[in-house]
Amino acid sequence: MIPQIADKQAEQTKLPSGPLEKIYVIWLAGGSCDGCSVSVLGATNPSLESLMAGTVPGLPKLVVSHTVLSIESGDEYLDQFRRAERGELDAPYVVVLEGSVTNERQIKDGSYNKGSGGFYIAIGEENGRPISTAEWLDRLCPKAAAVIAIGTCATWGGIPAAEGNATGAMGLMDHLGTDFRSAFGLPVINIPGCAPIGDNFIETVASVLLFLQGLTPLPEFDELGRPAWLYGETVHDGCPRAGYYEEGNFAKGYGDKECLVELGCWGPVVQCNMASRGAVNGIGGCMQSGGVCIGCTMPGFPDKFSPMYAKPPGSGVSATFTRAVGSVIKPLRRVTQRDKNRSIRWSERVPSGWGPQRGSPGIERVTNYFYKKVQKGG
Ligand code: SF4
Repeated sequence: MIPQIADKQAEQTKLPSGPLEKIYVIWLAGGSCDGCSVSVLGATNPSLESLMAGTVPGLPKLVVSHTVLSIESGDEYLDQFRRAERGELDAPYVVVLEGSVTNERQIKDGSYNKGSGGFYIAIGEENGRPISTAEWLDRLCPKAAAVIAIGTCATWGGIPAAEGNATGAMGLMDHLGTDFRSAFGLPVINIPGCAPIGDNFIETVASVLLFLQGLTPLPEFDELGRPAWLYGETVHDGCPRAGYYEEGNFAKGYGDKECLVELGCWGPVVQCNMASRGAVNGIGGCMQSGGVCIGCTMPGFPDKFSPMYAKPPGSGVSATFTRAVGSVIKPLRRVTQRDKNRSIRWSERVPSGWGPQRGSPGIERVTNYFYKKVQKGG
């Protein structure tokens, strides 16, 4: 999508295109634990508060209507939803869904909970009839400037959609279908994670807002609608324990400092930047705090990653290979390391009062002689 196309679609749908003074955010809740909201509140770069205060240069002020954080309730709370549906807001709006979409149709058509009437999840009511989250999505998403699913429940279905669930829960893309496009021509944007990194969400929102403002091209998304620059690499690529993996050093139990693959870590195949970005303001994260990667950002989660904390199939093969390679590489590196811990003046004795230390032993000196030859030659 290039800005000119967005302008054309904005014109067709009578949406103003940038620069915008403000943009509404309608945050809907499906089957969720509210963990994504907690995560977004921890974002720092920029923070949600600074976006809501309109203090980030180039970005419009966000007017957020949130199921937990809004202070309005009842009709006053739903007013923004209704005005958005009627096209009466004075600025474009973005729909954010947290939590999975439950299949309300299976109640209606009697294929499940036959005769129960009722509903799974609703926000507000009209004429005494609860309006399900699924219905709000159908009403609001087609007119939204952009539609963003936050968290693994909203993106792929997540834990509420695990095999055997009773609600027919699914992700937003499943609910809206392949052909869905927002009023600005965008498919659903997905920020997975259970919970996702708050800064991943805010950074993506900020990038999309800059695009809606007409200030930048649309950022790159992958084939599943994930921001490509955030989900393009694996957990393993950024893991602080990857050096242990490479030399074949594996933790035997929780609390050990080595690579956690034999305790059930799926990091080598899971697309997520948690290990490199940290959970909040660069601090924390799964491996940093001693936990294995359980694959929570992936569409196959949780069924394809179960049982959690069991050794992933195939990890035995890769661990055996790295152990074999590590058994050769590691001693060679220690030789080089010892040599680099010696000044060129310390060929025989090291003048340290901390303990008896010698220069490099003969065999190491020979090895290092050839090493130096190659180094200088290169
Ligand atoms: Fe890779 Fe997991 Fe080991 Fe980190 S702990 S190095 S992500 S396998």
